[in-house]
Amino acid sequence: MVMVAKQAVNEKGHLLIGGIDSVELAKTYGTPLFVYDLSLIRERARGFINTFKELNVQAQVAYASKAFSSVAMYQVMKQENLSLDVVSAGELYTAIKAGYPVDRIHFHGNNKSKEELLLAIEHNIGCIVVDNFYEIELLKNLAAEHDKQVNILLRVTPGVEAHTHDYITTGQQDSKFGFDLLNGQADRAFQDVYKDKRIHLLGLHCHIGSQIFETIGFKVAAEKLIKKMIAWHNDFNFQCTVLNLGGGFGIKYTEEDTPLEPSVYVKEMVIVVKDLVAETNFAMPEIWIEPGRSLVGDAGTSLYTIGSEKEVPDVRKYLAVDGGMSDNIRPALYGALYDAVIANKMNKESKEEYTIAGKCCESGDKLIEHITLPKADPGDILAMFCTGAYGYSMASNYNRLARPAVVFVEKGNQQLAIRRETLEDLVHLDLPLTLEKE
Ligand SMILES: *Cc1c(COP(=O)(O)O)cnc(C)c1O
Repeated sequence: MVMVAKQAVNEKGHLLIGGIDSVELAKTYGTPLFVYDLSLIRERARGFINTFKELNVQAQVAYASKAFSSVAMYQVMKQENLSLDVVSAGELYTAIKAGYPVDRIHFHGNNKSKEELLLAIEHNIGCIVVDNFYEIELLKNLAAEHDKQVNILLRVTPGVEAHTHDYITTGQQDSKFGFDLLNGQADRAFQDVYKDKRIHLLGLHCHIGSQIFETIGFKVAAEKLIKKMIAWHNDFNFQCTVLNLGGGFGIKYTEEDTPLEPSVYVKEMVIVVKDLVAETNFAMPEIWIEPGRSLVGDAGTSLYTIGSEKEVPDVRKYLAVDGGMSDNIRPALYGALYDAVIANKMNKESKEEYTIAGKCCESGDKLIEHITLPKADPGDILAMFCTGAYGYSMASNYNRLARPAVVFVEKGNQQLAIRRETLEDLVHLDLPLTLEKE
């Protein structure tokens, strides 16, 4: 596999990230280490926001924070004036700790608990994306009990499912999320809420997939949702003010990936909505989007120290690193592909074929199945690219491995954003046995 992009390298032949020697970062903070280059995150955030400005469309760009959530990352998104999607009390609490403006927090999830909804209501967050009839009931009762006003979107399944290179429309989408748009569920949900005194329906939401490289799925979904909103306007004289089209914009993990410029996805979905609205007396709604991966994915790099090597003659050579599925489960979970380099051998020729293995007790714990690298030695630093989304946020303590540290870099500056877990951290929830032996 070839390198994704020409990487910055210093005079020692070391990989630079955000202007900083990655080998020095590994020395300073230890490995495994997640390094985020904030300049790329800011560039993406501004790209989305400016595209809406150029199109003269009211918008919110919400960071889908399940991709990577931490206090410091939320503060970056706050600096960039993004909105924030959370999906649990834990993410919401992190946002509150980060001082996130509550009116720009949106709460998702297909099974929000009463306690989670209450936390959201008590903090007057901007919007709750309601997923099902049970949630409507919970929310109505809580709003009445606590005498609160609540803004909501209805999440619908539009019968469009987008994949990397194609999309499918299904009469009835088999999804655990949302109200079906086509079989009448969405209309029933609308009837349940649109006259409510405390629940304020802003509009509709959908999220059609992830790591998508084409705009057609977004366009078809946008059309279906806006048509439903126009129909409700015609039939009930109800004006929805928000159309949320979710996230899923693809990024380039390897040379085989061909994502579009982020602005292209936005432009094409906005055109569909504008055109359909233009034929009616329905007021143009705000367009909200929810990028996760495309904001933080390629801004993240994982650094590992290479340890043991095992050769299976005539089959392959395994290089083992000091992390694995415990800090990046995507290869084991969905066969995700990544590219990597040896950060301290950037000027050496790549001529050895390797499989990169993790250190977890699972044969499936491989990070990269096939990669060509310079000849590796123990102590070399492996830099694996594009690990910023769904890496740390899906990390576990499997095998009681401590979760890595996370460092932010930007234009030669650096800071620790999440400290490495210690052995003490690993036992701090454990309680000693008190039951007597029989
Ligand atoms: C996961 C998710 C996103 C973000 O998806 P990406 O592929 O990371 O952009 C956006 N909206 C919802 C509702 C999601 O569940």
